[in-house]
Amino acid sequence: MKILLTGCSGQVGWELARALLPLGEVIAVNRSQADLSDPDGLRRTVQKLNPDVIVNPAAYTAVDKAESERDLAFLINAEAPRVLAEEAAKNASLLIHYSTDYVFDGTKHAPYTEDDAVHPVNVYGQSKLAGEQAIQATGADHLILRTSWVYAARGQNFLKTILRLAAEREELNIVADQIGSPTWARLIAETTAHVLRQSLLERQQGGFSSGIYNLTSAGETSWHGFAQAIVEIARQQGTQPLKNRIINPIPTTDYPVPAKRPLNSRLSTNRLEQRFGLKMPTWDNALRLCMADMV
Ligand code: NDP
Repeated sequence: MKILLTGCSGQVGWELARALLPLGEVIAVNRSQADLSDPDGLRRTVQKLNPDVIVNPAAYTAVDKAESERDLAFLINAEAPRVLAEEAAKNASLLIHYSTDYVFDGTKHAPYTEDDAVHPVNVYGQSKLAGEQAIQATGADHLILRTSWVYAARGQNFLKTILRLAAEREELNIVADQIGSPTWARLIAETTAHVLRQSLLERQQGGFSSGIYNLTSAGETSWHGFAQAIVEIARQQGTQPLKNRIINPIPTTDYPVPAKRPLNSRLSTNRLEQRFGLKMPTWDNALRLCMADMV
């Protein structure tokens, strides 16, 4: 079983490089070995490696920058997945790809299901949606795992930013009217390994079906609630000096950024849990485990 893993330096890719190890020969490639902004080169790389499975966490993830780099965002998030899926279709291999809650506009007053109407409100979301659609159009065996609010002990993310700011500032202002479920990159990777193992069995036995699945932690909070939990856990751990004493809730309108964000990022994981026999942990439980790994 040869598994080609892209973006192995990213939050999810780093964890996947470990979580997928028991499933086969993992060929983990970074940008210099497989550049997703070079579709022809990417195609040649896949053809040379001839994998049984392609797992693609690599993406253009700079949400605000995407507003001014639309072409590059679409090249990496839509054209590259199309190439991966075309090659998967040719070789009868399986593609696992990641997408985002940002395919939705966030106006729904409940968690989004996989069947809800998509309507991205920023370029990043549009490019990720185009990637989903490009994969679906190829007819390749695929799973598209939509996740949200990803953090990890490594990389650039909200957890790391809050830990840094809490050490520097007494007072923080954090957006409180966007809600979602913070999701640990390791949880995504380990869930992917379960999903992949079952999918390989299903393909052997002839019962596999492609589709989109939401993959996030259970429960919900706001960025403000997430920040409070991070600082509280850090305080309990007592391993780093914390200046922070107050975290003020602010509305999205008080924190202007180039890309519009959906107010509701919640995704229902019922479909994933039912098909793959899983029960997603709550976001705060996973956060504790992640932060325990950082001390
Ligand atoms: P990261 O930003 O941590 O990692 C992105 C990875 O993609 C890096 O390894 C990066 O390489 C690689 N990459 C970027 N451009 C290229 C390129 N041109 N060629 C090859 N590799 C490239 O992302 P995450 O791990 O957080 O995200 C994983 C998936 O989850 C993505 O599909 C993302 O869209 C999705 N997602 C992420 C969310 C989040 O909050 N982060 C929320 C919802 C969905 P390099 O290190 O060289 O830059």
